[in-house]
Amino acid sequence: MNRRNFIAGAAAAAATAATPPRLAVEGGKPVRETPLNSGFYGSSYYGSEEASELNDVIKTQRPFRWYGPGKEPPMKVATFEKEFARRMQTRYALGVTSGSAALQTAGAALGIGPGDEVILPAWTWHSCFNAIVLAGALPVFAEIDESFNIDPKDIESKITPQTKLIMVVHLQGNPADMDAIMEIAGKHHLRVLEDCAQSVGASYKGKPVGSIGDINIYSLQINKTITAGEGGAVVTNDPLLFERASRYHDLGTLRHLHEHLLGSVRDQNFVGSQFRMSEFTGGVLLAQLRKLDEIVTAVRRHARRVYDATRDLPGIRFRRLPDPEGEIGSTVFLGFGTKAKCERFQAAMKAENVPAHGPGGSAILPIQPYVEEKHTVHPAWPSFTSERGRSIQYGAASCPRTLDILSRFAGVALHPKFSSSDVDDVVAAIRKVYPQIVRG
Ligand SMILES: *Cc1c(COP(=O)(O)O)cnc(C)c1O
Repeated sequence: MNRRNFIAGAAAAAATAATPPRLAVEGGKPVRETPLNSGFYGSSYYGSEEASELNDVIKTQRPFRWYGPGKEPPMKVATFEKEFARRMQTRYALGVTSGSAALQTAGAALGIGPGDEVILPAWTWHSCFNAIVLAGALPVFAEIDESFNIDPKDIESKITPQTKLIMVVHLQGNPADMDAIMEIAGKHHLRVLEDCAQSVGASYKGKPVGSIGDINIYSLQINKTITAGEGGAVVTNDPLLFERASRYHDLGTLRHLHEHLLGSVRDQNFVGSQFRMSEFTGGVLLAQLRKLDEIVTAVRRHARRVYDATRDLPGIRFRRLPDPEGEIGSTVFLGFGTKAKCERFQAAMKAENVPAHGPGGSAILPIQPYVEEKHTVHPAWPSFTSERGRSIQYGAASCPRTLDILSRFAGVALHPKFSSSDVDDVVAAIRKVYPQIVRG
């Protein structure tokens, strides 16, 4: 072999060594034989604890939280509230029927109503926008940043003399930039509501999400961390806000148990709704709450492994994490330069049987037709009859950055009960696919 041939041979060998494994989408062998499925969290932990709580309610024939047969009041919801407040490091917790009901209750506690403006992220769940409109107030969208949460820098430009509240949403397990948001709120004398529906169990700089804003909410619906199928909670440290929340969720009245908890009465009866939690729900949620840390610890550990085993990939970009320690890690999101690359990544991951999806579980609200066209239950709805309400424009032009960011990220959803080899597959698929897509 002459020198020339030798060099050609060596180059060919090097090229072979550097040849990336053939992607399954191009006919290669997939990382897994069967698709990796993430599924629901809390309900996959149902067991004898939840069954025993439900049995108690049946045996004692006490499904209603305030009274029933027997001298002592039923205590499932009351105990859930006590333990939930302790877990979230707040003074008070109120169980309600859903996260949406919790949002309406928190808004009513704050006295949000016609003439008021509320700032919320353009990417969140429908309940946020709806709760503001149902209160008669005006929703004002702010853009998200690459954390998928409301961009603190965009909040300030949306503040007017009518702004009363910033609705912060900790989306998909990822705490928002609370330090920056609380600073803006303080500067402009605004209230803060944390919507923790998608991040039950997450924390921000060591504090549970929901312990920082003025009044904060959680959902306990099946898609959230712990669940009774439906359910929600409102937490606060402020006795007046708790009293008003308790009243609003129960036709405007204050029941003895909460009056006793508060020590004194600060407000009076008003027109409220009826969002009381049943003892069945309270019992299941009590059992679930006692498993919350186990669930969060497991999924966090999986997410850490994926981050740590992929962060050396050239050019890799994760969703921005304002507090990596506090994130739950329910989905590991990767960013791409273009929407086309992001879509190719998703197709390739699907073929590897480790599916990746664009950000889900929320909606880009300004482009929903009912939002853009301001459809309400009555044409004279106060949200949109003021000059400001008539002139505000939603739609794609109101949130270009949100649309762009969400089109360029895709992630792999993790489940706390994934096996170690499931997590290995996630790492292997990302390591195999990501570099080829970014390069290609
Ligand atoms: C799920 C969700 C809600 C509403 O909770 P429900 O219990 O379904 O009413 C509110 N906000 C966000 C961000 C959510 O994801």
